Amino acid sequence: MKHICPNCEKITNVQHIKTDEDITIKGKRINVPVEYYRCLECGGEFDDPKSNHDPLAIAYKEYRRSHATGPV
Ligand SMILES: [Zn+2]
Repeated sequence: MKHICPNCEKITNVQHIKTDEDITIKGKRINVPVEYYRCLECGGEFDDPKSNHDPLAIAYKEYRRSHATGPV
């Protein structure tokens, strides 16, 4: 598929990557799904600018949910 690569600053062939990643918050590892693009021209990886998918925000939400009881 074609997408604008912020590194190349032009429309290039990119690969849509869907995977998951461990994000560590205060020593607790949280597995969150991540989506991004990889430019096949330069190999650079970048987020979909149209998506507001934020793995860090998801990880924080998970962290708060698992620590919902008791004070922080
Ligand atoms: Zn590129």
